[in-house]
Amino acid sequence: MSVRAKKHLGQHFLKDEQIAKDIADSLTEKGYDTVLEIGPGMGVLTKYLLEKDYTTHVIEIDTESVEYLQNTYLNLAPRIISKDFLKINITDYFKEKQFAIIGNFPYNISTQIVFKTLDYRDQIPEFSGMFQKEVAERIAEKKGSKKYGILSVIAQAFYDIEYLFTVPPTVFDPPPKVESGVIRMIRKADYSLPVDEKLFYRVVKTAFNQRRKMLRSSLKSMNLSDKLREDAIFALRPEQLSVEEFINLTSLIEQDAI
Ligand code: SAH
Repeated sequence: MSVRAKKHLGQHFLKDEQIAKDIADSLTEKGYDTVLEIGPGMGVLTKYLLEKDYTTHVIEIDTESVEYLQNTYLNLAPRIISKDFLKINITDYFKEKQFAIIGNFPYNISTQIVFKTLDYRDQIPEFSGMFQKEVAERIAEKKGSKKYGILSVIAQAFYDIEYLFTVPPTVFDPPPKVESGVIRMIRKADYSLPVDEKLFYRVVKTAFNQRRKMLRSSLKSMNLSDKLREDAIFALRPEQLSVEEFINLTSLIEQDAI
């Protein structure tokens, strides 16, 4: 099958059936009976999802792909959402239901897909799929690494993340410029945040925006008391703080404001 991919939609169609199957098998199938695939394209992954016990829904922005899927997978047709994932209100389609997300994601919007998933984490116990390798690594990376950053800290505050395997450009049509990586995120048993979420996001983002500086100077804009800024933690740079330590730091800042 030859396809004319639409570059602005991040279309890189997977040609390797074994890799498609391995991605489909990456979900543990625990804690939900519904799965949403983002960006099914011509359905290379979808056909393996349809063999599973759960109910598969797909969301695809490209109307040509939607038409192809409607004509090819007749049973799936009522559960094809012909929309932009970033624009939908998830509760319009899934109400309060628990569901997993999977996909060979459009790389141009992959971090936005992760942030939207985090916003809806109360309904999303599991998330797995393929990203450009660098993004997959950034999500999964631990403190001390150059790749550890905003995405790592915020995703790992709510999910346990595992980097599963690397995929070469040659198995895509057209091949992307970079390698790809598959990760799985499983929501933590207790994923409640003991601090204000907005403040936590702000602390993490502000700290990493000047990642080579000590927190004492990168967090200056947050108007902290002199006393708090003497705390030893403020002599560290953001990549030296674990997720737990970022939560503790947020808690210190929260109390400082009282
Ligand atoms: N899963 C397929 C296609 C991957 S390419 C495969 O592995 O071969 C990424 C797919 O995401 C494309 O089909 C593209 O049309 C779709 N897409 C891009 N932006 C999207 C968006 N905002 N919402 C839903 N689908 C999107």
